[in-house]
Amino acid sequence: MGVGTYEQFLERMYKMKPNIYVGDEVIDRKDPRLAAGFYAMRQTFDCAHDDRYKDVCTATSHLTGETINRFTHIHQTQDDLFKKQEMTKLLSHRVGGCIQRCMGIDALNALSVVTYEIDAALGTDYNQNFINYLKWTQEHDIVANCAQTDVKGERLKRPHEQSDPDMYLRIVEDRPDGIIVRGAKSCNSASPYVDEIIATPTRFMGSKDNAYAVSFALPADWPGVKLASLPGLRHKRTHIDAPIAHIGDMESLTIFDDVFVPNERIFLNGVRHPESTRFAGFLAIMFAHFHRHSYTGCKPATSEVLASSAALVAEYNGIEKTSHAQEKICHIITVAELVYAAGVASAVRAVKMPSGTMIPDEILTNAGRKLAGEEIFNEVAILTDLAGGLIATLPLEDEFYSDDIGPLLNKYIMRDPSIPAENIHRCFRMIEDQLVSDFGASQMTAGLHGGGSPQMEAVAMMGGYNVEKLKGIAKYLAGIEPDIPIYKRETVTPRRVLEKFEKTQK
Ligand SMILES: Cc1cc2nc3c(=O)[nH]c(=O)nc-3n(C[C@H](O)[C@H](O)[C@H](O)COP(=O)(O)OP(=O)(O)OC[C@H]3O[C@@H](n4cnc5c(N)ncnc54)[C@H](O)[C@@H]3O)c2cc1C
Ligand code: SF4
Repeated sequence: MGVGTYEQFLERMYKMKPNIYVGDEVIDRKDPRLAAGFYAMRQTFDCAHDDRYKDVCTATSHLTGETINRFTHIHQTQDDLFKKQEMTKLLSHRVGGCIQRCMGIDALNALSVVTYEIDAALGTDYNQNFINYLKWTQEHDIVANCAQTDVKGERLKRPHEQSDPDMYLRIVEDRPDGIIVRGAKSCNSASPYVDEIIATPTRFMGSKDNAYAVSFALPADWPGVKLASLPGLRHKRTHIDAPIAHIGDMESLTIFDDVFVPNERIFLNGVRHPESTRFAGFLAIMFAHFHRHSYTGCKPATSEVLASSAALVAEYNGIEKTSHAQEKICHIITVAELVYAAGVASAVRAVKMPSGTMIPDEILTNAGRKLAGEEIFNEVAILTDLAGGLIATLPLEDEFYSDDIGPLLNKYIMRDPSIPAENIHRCFRMIEDQLVSDFGASQMTAGLHGGGSPQMEAVAMMGGYNVEKLKGIAKYLAGIEPDIPIYKRETVTPRRVLEKFEKTQK
């Protein structure tokens, strides 16, 4: 199959067992509250069959030579990284923000690198498990989420130091046929409407954290997996249907309530192979790294969506040509261009890992993601500013269509007489959905924290940046050193952490 269809995906979803907890109900995948998430997922299938998008949305499997959906591809070349970024950007435009499927591709790419390195160092067979899993994923165009963020308990304590040992996902039993895991992963996007959940560690693990060095993949409805969910929806439309009104999501706190994972689905087990514990942090950082590179596709798109809305509402408000509106829209475009440029430049500096996977530069990727995270609320403020207060006080849609006050509302929403009332209404209704709906608000938090908060990007950047070498310029200019060094930064990748983590195991 390679490039699946939305109908095949939906058929699989409808066969899954109900394990989605919403309020006091346990719902299945046919529940209408999942439709908004399915709408986003649908784009990832339909566009892979659309001639306008095929080039970026499909790839050639390095395992089989078959054409596959790019969301299941392991980046082999620089061009793969460019196309992944472009795909994420184009699809994010179609849904006005997050396309929701990148966690899977980013987890697969991270596992391709890390399982290979574990096996090379320890003679284990995690990479073979992974390759078998990847082949199946590519063949069936499987949608996966990544459950990385542990609930974490007391933030400053390591996993083994927590008062409750279940604050990080852990192995409670290692059996000949597999493991039993217990714990919970927070903020899991799209998990109620994916085929598979890929679990990875969220941070570095020391030698006392062997039970927490665990990674595996399971079907999202596997026995013991409980999805405590939050539907993120927009306002229901009654008269003026629009693409944006169809898009939402469902997040979950994913609970692993003593769940059995068969051996062939395990990619890291620090209990069985304590020497593999040092790879937990490497895997955590690798997933975050690939995901932040995906952000250099979706965040420019999000900025462009906001800039586009800002430009349209500024036109409708008659202020488009004012210098303050121009300056503010320009600011959002500047951020979009710089974040995108960071993603492209990080791919230009990409290097091949021993596994064959292409990996972008860590400093540039994190710089792009950090800027996007820091700017998201500023961009929202600009759109709010140019739109005015109506986006938070717009009368309900039905009122515009009431025989009684409908004509009055359509009269009083008017600005430039050449712009029809319905267009103005549509524009403000769209921005209401973007900024003051449940889903709109959650997307702002996602813009800051998703893939790691700006502080975490700062940690990643400073961990890889050679500040001592940088200081050489100042030392020369201050006359402390006699010559200026040729300062040229080398490509940095998360592989640098392996040596550091190895030392901490001793
Ligand atoms: C909408 C949305 C979707 C998401 N989707 C996913 C997903 O699909 N899969 C997934 O795995 N994750 C997902 N995330 C999680 C995201 O990666 C985390 O929210 C992010 O990494 C921050 O972690 P946290 O929420 O636990 O906050 P915390 O880590 O608790 O951070 C809160 C504050 O505490 C600080 N802090 C935390 N620990 C320390 C420490 N040890 N020392 C000093 N300061 C500290 C942080 O810097 C921050 O300022 C999503 C998040 C959002 C908002
Ligand atoms: S936030 Fe961006 S990178 Fe993450 S899933 Fe959504 S579109 Fe992909």
